[in-house]
Amino acid sequence: MAKEKTFSAFGPVPQWTRKWGMLFLILLVVGTGFVLWRNGQKQWHTASGPIFGTEYNVKYLAHENLDKDLLGELQRVDNSLSMFNQNSNLSKINKGLTCEADELVVEVLTLAQQVSGATAGAFDVTVGPLVNAWGFGFKQGTMPTDAQVDSLRAFVGADKLKLTGNKVARADKRMVIDCGAIAKGYAVDRLAGLLRARGVEHFMIEVGGEIRTHGKNSEDKDWSIGIQRPTSSGAGSESQGIEAIMPCSNKAMATSGNYRNFYVKDGKRYAHTIDPRTGRPVEHSLLSATVLAPTCAEADAYATAFMVMGEEEAKKLLSAQPQLQAVLISEGKDGTLVTWHTPTLYVDKNSH
Ligand code: AMP
Ligand code: MG
Repeated sequence: MAKEKTFSAFGPVPQWTRKWGMLFLILLVVGTGFVLWRNGQKQWHTASGPIFGTEYNVKYLAHENLDKDLLGELQRVDNSLSMFNQNSNLSKINKGLTCEADELVVEVLTLAQQVSGATAGAFDVTVGPLVNAWGFGFKQGTMPTDAQVDSLRAFVGADKLKLTGNKVARADKRMVIDCGAIAKGYAVDRLAGLLRARGVEHFMIEVGGEIRTHGKNSEDKDWSIGIQRPTSSGAGSESQGIEAIMPCSNKAMATSGNYRNFYVKDGKRYAHTIDPRTGRPVEHSLLSATVLAPTCAEADAYATAFMVMGEEEAKKLLSAQPQLQAVLISEGKDGTLVTWHTPTLYVDKNSH
């Protein structure tokens, strides 16, 4: 019997092409079905718990539960950078037990030094002894004297800290490196890296208020994040709800606020943030700084720096660094809140 021939526009199609064509079609159908089935299997997971003296919250859409891996990554950051963990790499460096920084400490210190440079020393991971002196001073009802502040300043300053390769050199043994103002953001970045490496496309990560989002939320909408309303009245006041809402998909965002941490003495409010350039708590009307940046570590560091710098200095820096955006909330003359934001940022102050 004569073999049946198939014709295409270009002439007869050989038998082998038909066979491979069929196989390809079957694979395509099966493959598409598999992908659809796999996607159908994805579900939203929530991981949360205490870490670094604060809390973490992660929401992610994935096939498998990755909670253990996320916690493992946070513990890795803790083992490297925590001040509370006596055995962390940074604690050992501070105690002079080693000068070798691990990969995470190198990454964070490198960025910290860059931000110190960009903020003319407003951000400074060596400011810890001054933070403590003022903190203890307030608790004990005695402020540090000018002489005490000056003697502490002898071993405070980003320029007294050198990182060469993975070797950390401190100009003075009494220097304390405290990455508390950048480590939470860095932890968020590490978790984002982990989820992306596992193929997770949709997530929201929050560690102690520092945030990173990707893709869509569980309602298949863009993520949007609320900024807390700071209050300027009295010690121990809590924030009073949401001041503004921002669309925030595929972004990293961090907030620093003096309304969270301050002391009142003789009716005067002293911020927890210390200006390393003066050795004293900052005194200006900026109550909170929310920063959006390419990474959460940067956002975290700049948010702290802005609280040191105050509104005008922060705005100058923002206009020179277009990769940064910010929402700055200050106390107006009559005690009302004044919200300013980078013009390129959409901030909804009314619909909530
Ligand atoms: P954050 O909540 O990220 O603004 O970090 C606050 C912590 O940063 C404080 O608890 C201090 O330990 C530390 N800190 C205070 N002032 C500075 C500064 N000028 N540069 C870097 N860290 C600081
Ligand atoms: Mg910070």
